[in-house]
Amino acid sequence: MLAAAPPSIAPDSLEALLDPALDVLAGFAEDPQEFAEAWDHGEIVPSALFPERGRIGTIEAQQRSQLSQNALAFLAVVALRPVLAAYFAECREHVADSEWDLGICPCCGGPPGFADLLEDGRRQLACHLCGTSWTFARLVCPFCGTRTAAELIRLMAEDAEEGYAVGACRSCRGYVKELDRRVRWNAGCGLVEDWGSPHLDLVAHRQEFWRPIPTLIQLASPAE
Ligand SMILES: [Zn+2]
Ligand SMILES: [Zn+2]
Repeated sequence: MLAAAPPSIAPDSLEALLDPALDVLAGFAEDPQEFAEAWDHGEIVPSALFPERGRIGTIEAQQRSQLSQNALAFLAVVALRPVLAAYFAECREHVADSEWDLGICPCCGGPPGFADLLEDGRRQLACHLCGTSWTFARLVCPFCGTRTAAELIRLMAEDAEEGYAVGACRSCRGYVKELDRRVRWNAGCGLVEDWGSPHLDLVAHRQEFWRPIPTLIQLASPAE
């Protein structure tokens, strides 16, 4: 939908969020200078941060900025979310209970950032880029679509808190953290829970699983 009806976003409307995000990157051995220059000259525009097939942000923007793919995705999530969340407010309502069987966000096309197991046992995936959630089959990998049960595993932290797990796929090595809302009915929203559970990313990262929406752990150890 983002490709069919792209919102026009004024570059300066993103800068209040983009500037501190660039500062964060500088702390992770990424050099945000080229990005900042290209942005100021209009060579990288807001739409260059939109999700594309299999990645977030265009290849051109990555080459021009000399940032890693993870760093570019990080900038996109931090800077675009308020704008895209407002843009897709209506879309979000319509898809909440609809059956959308793709592992990408039905509104913006972004990859899932977090998963919730709902009261009725359905799995809902959350998009960090625009705040949309959509229902997705539990026994299918949202990244590669495999339905082979033996490929889909659950990872737990050592001192596992009840209700939290990592759903990982041995076929494509992708993972998404998952929260069982039947056990944790008073937990925060997906984005808050995602940011609040870096220990689970560490568990997945150590076993060489990856996620499309980067965490600070991935930015800190950029072995891609
Ligand atoms: Zn989205
Ligand atoms: Zn997979």
